[in-house]
Amino acid sequence: MDRLIKRTRIFRAIIDAFTNKPETTSYPFTPLELPEGFRGAVIMLDPEKCSGCGLCVRNCPAEALVLEKESRDAFRLVHYPARCAYCGQCEESCRQGAISHTNQLVTPTSDPCVVTVVLKNSIENDDPSQGD
Ligand code: SF4
Ligand code: SF4
Repeated sequence: MDRLIKRTRIFRAIIDAFTNKPETTSYPFTPLELPEGFRGAVIMLDPEKCSGCGLCVRNCPAEALVLEKESRDAFRLVHYPARCAYCGQCEESCRQGAISHTNQLVTPTSDPCVVTVVLKNSIENDDPSQGD
C-alpha cells in the first residue's frame, strides 16, 4: 500500500512538472525582474548633492570608488563596477544621500567605457576630445 501511495505522489509530481510554469526565468532572453532592495548598479542619485567629501571612497571595502580632486569644488568621482562588491556601504556612508544603488544587474563587460563609470565630474574643460 505504501508503495502505491509513493508512486501516486511521484506521478502527481511528474504531471505538475509538465503543467506548471517554471520557477526560473530564461534571462537574458526574457526581462529579469529583481526585487526592491536588490543592490545593483551604483549610481549618482543627485550630482548637486555630492560635495566631494570622499567618505564613500574611504569606507568602500573594495576600493571601487576613486575621488580625483583638483580643488575643493573641482573633482571627479569614479566608480569601478568590476571591483565593486555591491555591499551598499557607499550608500550608507553618504550623508548627503547623493549615491545609491539601482536594482539593475550589472552585466559583465570588457568595454573600457563601461568598466569605468564617472559618477560626478565637476572639473571644467575635462572633455578629452577638446584636448590639443
Ligand atoms: S557621494 Fe556622498 S560620500 Fe561620496 S563624495 Fe559625494 S557627498 Fe561624499
Ligand atoms: S557598493 Fe560597496 S564595494 Fe561597491 S562602491 Fe559601494 S562601498 Fe564600494
